[in-house]
Amino acid sequence: MNQERDFLAERVKGLQKAGLNETAAMLELVRGIEGVVDLGYGDPYYTTPAHIMEAAKRAMDEGYTHYVLPVEGYTPLREAIAQKLAVQNGIAADPNTEIIVTVGVEEAINVIMLTLINPGDEVIVPEPYYSPAFKAVKMVGGVPVYTQLREERDFRTDPEDVRKKITPKTKMIYCITPNAPTGGVMQKEDLDQITGIAQEKDLLVVTDEIYEKMIYDDEKHHSIASFPDMKDRTISMFGFSKAYAMCGWRIGYLTANPDLVKNMTAIHVQLVLMANSISQKAALEALTGPQDCVEEMRRDFQDRRDLMVARLNPLGIRCKPPKGSMYIYANVSELDMVGIDFARRLATEARVLAHPGTTYASSEGYEQYVRFNFTSVSMDELNIALDRIEEFVRKL
Ligand code: PLP
Repeated sequence: MNQERDFLAERVKGLQKAGLNETAAMLELVRGIEGVVDLGYGDPYYTTPAHIMEAAKRAMDEGYTHYVLPVEGYTPLREAIAQKLAVQNGIAADPNTEIIVTVGVEEAINVIMLTLINPGDEVIVPEPYYSPAFKAVKMVGGVPVYTQLREERDFRTDPEDVRKKITPKTKMIYCITPNAPTGGVMQKEDLDQITGIAQEKDLLVVTDEIYEKMIYDDEKHHSIASFPDMKDRTISMFGFSKAYAMCGWRIGYLTANPDLVKNMTAIHVQLVLMANSISQKAALEALTGPQDCVEEMRRDFQDRRDLMVARLNPLGIRCKPPKGSMYIYANVSELDMVGIDFARRLATEARVLAHPGTTYASSEGYEQYVRFNFTSVSMDELNIALDRIEEFVRKL
């Protein structure tokens, strides 16, 4: 191979540049250090509930190892999804024409962008960001335009800021609620305003609702597709990874109008043909089997969140209890340190891994934040991590 020749496509170079590899840098920093507690990783601590695993084993024993048609997803699974969307999200989706079972929300994000975004089209995405969202936009030549989530607004998308960011090139408003990496949950009135903007400016709305079940206190999750006249212009994504502790199964789904679904199916087939057969059977069991596991995990996560907020604030690590998801995006400015220095020192001196807030932002204004995941380790490990954080801060 000629060493001089550059074989890489511009696309991947763009992604690498956008890749802000602080997460990898943090892992590198703790390589070789024993007993680090990782509060960075975005995967819940639980293993998948037993009845879901049993369904997967049964599927294998029954020979469910072939391609699954239709490519949009196993029919009983799409029917169960339609039922769930109707009852829990207030979205009336036709299982045959308005749902695609995807390889996680991750595939759905890329299917959406590949189907709808031309080079130069603008997509309004929240910042701090879930980086695969803006990268998916960039990968197809689109332009992510950031709308800032601010601590003062409990990290909820500010519809007025969204409005200011709209140009003639804007095609889509992208919402994540409950939000990663901030834990903000959009309120009904926020979504009412987004609805108004999308209708007035004739825009699509894409919502990532993967954390819909990780919602705390008396907060409510609202699906914007259920708002009047929004179903046709909204693409809603949902997952199994977080609600059912199924990150490794790579299964999720989206719902949209039949025309969009038809076109997105063409891309879905091109990318993956169809979702994994065993995972589809497991997902069917997840939706139709007992749901106490979801509530048990939610309650446990809420307790962990409360513990963490109660212990971080007295140390000068400022955070309100996030209303959803599994992250605390905390402000360390009272410690006279920026987030990246705090996270690096915490990792090497206290053996607790957290992510600098700037991992998730390229605009200014997020230097003072650090993101902690309160669900990624056992309760014992979380207590150890909190003891270490306390000792570290007391010594500063
Ligand atoms: N969307 C958000 C906001 C996430 O935080 C994550 C994972 O952390 C995903 C999507 C990935 O979802 P999936 O595992 O279904 O691909």
